[in-house]
Amino acid sequence: MTNATNILHVDMDAFYASVEQRDNPSLRGKPVVVGGNKRGVVAAASYEARKFGIRSAMPMKEAMRKCPNLVQINTRMSDYAAVSKQIFSIFLEFTPIIEKLSLDEAFLDVSNSIRLFGDEINIATKIKDSIFQQTGLTASIGIAPNKLVAKIASDLDKPDGIFFISNHNMQEVLDPLPVQVIPGIGPETLARLQRIKVFTVGDLRQTSKGHLEPIFGRFTKQAQEKAAGIDKRSVRPNRERKSISAEVTFNSDVFDRPIMYRELLKLAEQTSSRLRAEQLVAGTVHIKVRKADFSTSTRQCSLLPPNNLTKSVYTAALNLLDKWLTTYPDTELRLLGVGCSQLAPDIQTDLFSTDILANKANLEQTVDKIRARFGHTSLSRARSIDSEEIM
Ligand SMILES: [Mg+2]
Repeated sequence: MTNATNILHVDMDAFYASVEQRDNPSLRGKPVVVGGNKRGVVAAASYEARKFGIRSAMPMKEAMRKCPNLVQINTRMSDYAAVSKQIFSIFLEFTPIIEKLSLDEAFLDVSNSIRLFGDEINIATKIKDSIFQQTGLTASIGIAPNKLVAKIASDLDKPDGIFFISNHNMQEVLDPLPVQVIPGIGPETLARLQRIKVFTVGDLRQTSKGHLEPIFGRFTKQAQEKAAGIDKRSVRPNRERKSISAEVTFNSDVFDRPIMYRELLKLAEQTSSRLRAEQLVAGTVHIKVRKADFSTSTRQCSLLPPNNLTKSVYTAALNLLDKWLTTYPDTELRLLGVGCSQLAPDIQTDLFSTDILANKANLEQTVDKIRARFGHTSLSRARSIDSEEIM
């Protein structure tokens, strides 16, 4: 019986793009990117798109240049959030010690789950199988004695893989990897390291401190510890989120109020759906508006009682926007955002079950579930359907 720590890093493969390809079979096998619009950046790229050198965070224009046949899809955050909720509830079947990094990525400490579910490889296999059965999507999982190495491992057999690194094979696996797999080594540091002939993790681990100090300064020891796969951080569950928000940068500046309202509704829906996915309620709603001249303002108001309903978030955001437009009439908008803060866990006790709020929340959760299963187009609020003749 050992008391080794067993950490899993679970990372969905090309998450947003895979959800799109799942929901629209005509996109399968094609280079697909998900991202706001032409002015925005790539939020996710399918594996077919990656072959063209397209990466997330790349400007959409550059991606289009690299691959003229690229299919660009607008983000459907509420759908991704609903799938995310399914994935995290699978994690919860195996361990309560979950540290969420994003909608599709988490660290799981399964050290105490092994007696119940079998060894860490068994657990990873079961998690991957459940994810595939319930969502039709694939994940990659890295298994290691700590978070640093687990995160590196999940990339080593991607997509749809499990990669296991133990204390016994750690040095052997890490040493030949390019040094930039170490988190915190960006392009500038990388260039400086290459100049002193440090190309691999092993090079970093074995180079004398004196050679590295001009590059890492007081972080030299830390950098070399990372190269040796040393990481003492534990998995911290329930990382508290301060706010959830969504925003859109318009292709061309928007003057028409119906378009603003329609976008505002979409954003309110994305934001509130993510609140529901994360089982949170918000006490404050804010909007962010950027004018054509790039000046940006925010306005906020309370949401009472705190909740996560699309309608409440939209109504609050709409009031804020209308007030702002009264002060700045005839304004063209470049960007619009909706956010929720003052977040608290959504505790739906039986006391609320007869409450009208709870019933509405149940309805919206059902909508989220249907969307997660059948895709976004299965249900759409009349007003957010893409059409110019609304309102
Ligand atoms: Mg991912």
